Amino acid sequence: MYRDPDLAPVFRGRGFLSYERRSEVRVLAASVTPRARGTEDVLPGEVLRWRRLEGIARELAGRYGFGEIRTPSFEYTELIHRVGESTDVVQKETYDFIDRGGRSLTLRPEGTAPVVRACLQGGLFGGSLPIKVFYVTLSAFRYERPEAGRLRQHHQFGCECFGSPGPATDAELILLMADFFAAAGIRSVVPHLNTIGCPECRPRYREALQAYYRDRLPTLCADCRRRFDQNPLRLLDCKVDREAALGAPHAVDHVCAACAEHFQTLRALLAAAGLSYELDHQLVRGFDYYTRTVFEFVHAGIGAQASLGGGGRYDGLVESLGGTAVPAAGFGLGMERLLVALAQEGLEAQPTTGCDIFVAGDDAAAVFALCSEARRAGLGAEFDPLGRSLKAQFRHADRLGARHVVILQGPEQPAVLRDMRTREQRDTPASDVVAVVQAAIAGR
Ligand SMILES: [Zn+2]
Ligand SMILES: [Zn+2]
Repeated sequence: MYRDPDLAPVFRGRGFLSYERRSEVRVLAASVTPRARGTEDVLPGEVLRWRRLEGIARELAGRYGFGEIRTPSFEYTELIHRVGESTDVVQKETYDFIDRGGRSLTLRPEGTAPVVRACLQGGLFGGSLPIKVFYVTLSAFRYERPEAGRLRQHHQFGCECFGSPGPATDAELILLMADFFAAAGIRSVVPHLNTIGCPECRPRYREALQAYYRDRLPTLCADCRRRFDQNPLRLLDCKVDREAALGAPHAVDHVCAACAEHFQTLRALLAAAGLSYELDHQLVRGFDYYTRTVFEFVHAGIGAQASLGGGGRYDGLVESLGGTAVPAAGFGLGMERLLVALAQEGLEAQPTTGCDIFVAGDDAAAVFALCSEARRAGLGAEFDPLGRSLKAQFRHADRLGARHVVILQGPEQPAVLRDMRTREQRDTPASDVVAVVQAAIAGR
C-alpha cells in the first residue's frame, strides 16, 4: 500500500480516525502543551544522527589531545554579561532570570565564558599548560527569532585551549574543525580566516574604520549606526551593508608587527598542513573578546546563514573574568545547523536502529527466550510484543530496519534465518542462530 510520508493518522474523539499533513499538524488535543517556541525534540529515530556526530567529535577531539568538560546550563548573570558588554547576543538575546532566592542568573549563550570560569574555579590554570578542553552537545540559549538551524536552545561542539600564545594552537584548532566537517560528510565548506589585531593595535584600526564609515553613516542601517561608536568592527559583517564593507580598510594592513607575524606564521602552518582557506577581510566575530586570529567555516548550501561555526583567539578573556593573563583560543559550532547542512547536501546515510536480529514466530515464549538470549550475547534484538500475525511481525521488522529476521517454526523444526540485506535465507537450528548472526555482524 502506498503511504504518503507526510500524512499522519490523527485520532479525533471516539475512534474517529483521519489523516492530516504532518507539515500542518498543530497540537490537536487541548490538553497537550506544545514544546516551547524555538526548541526542538530529538525523537528516537533522529537521535542516531546526533550520536554519529557526537562520536566523531569525541574521537577527533581526543586525537588532538582535548579532554571533555561539562559545565552547568546557567551561570550568574554577572559572568555572562561581563564578557560582552557591547555584544548583541549579551545585550539583547540572553535568558536572564531571578531565581526564588533573588539571585540573577543567565542561561549560557555559549560555552567559552562558563568553561573559563570552571577552569579558574577548578584551579586548572595553576598546573601545567596548555589546558585543552572540549564540550559536545552543550546546550546554549539565545532569545532570538527562530529560523532553520537557529533555535532558542541549540547545541554546540567546541574546543578551547588555554596557555598557548602561539599560532600553532590557532592552526591546530582550524585543522581539527576542518577534520570534523570532513568526517561528518560536509563537502562544500570553506574556512575563512582573518586577523583583527590586539588591544595595542586595534584602536588604530578602529579609527581607520570610523574614518572610512563616518561619511557613509547616514546610508547605513540602524544597527550599524548604533555600533559605529562602540564596536565599529561589527559594521564589517553587517548583512545589510555588505557593499560598504567591501571598500573598508583591511585589518591586516593596520595591525602591529607582532600581530602581523602571528598571522603570517599561522598562514604558513596551514599551508604546510595542506589546508586551503580564504582570506576574508570582512570577517569579525560576534563576541568582543577576540584578539588576533578569527576564523569561520562557511557553507555554500545553507543560504543566508552561511556560517557553520568558527572561533579564534581571545587572549584577554581569562584575565577579564578575574584570572591571571592566560592566552586562549577556541572554536564552537552549532550541531543543529550542521544537521541542516548535511540534509542539504543529501549525504546523510539512513540511520539504522541497531536491530541486528528480529525474532518472529507464533510461540510467544520461544520468541521471547531467543530474543533475550540474543540481547545477552550483545546483539541488538527485537520481537513483536503485540503478538500479531506473522505478516504483521515482518512489517514490524521492516520498520525497525532489522539486519536479520529469524522465524521460529516449532520445537521440531529448524528456524529460518534471513539476511535482510542480501535477502539470503537458510535453515538454522534455533540454538545456533545467535552464533551465526554474531559471526555475520562481526564480518560485515
Ligand atoms: Zn597587535
Ligand atoms: Zn548595517
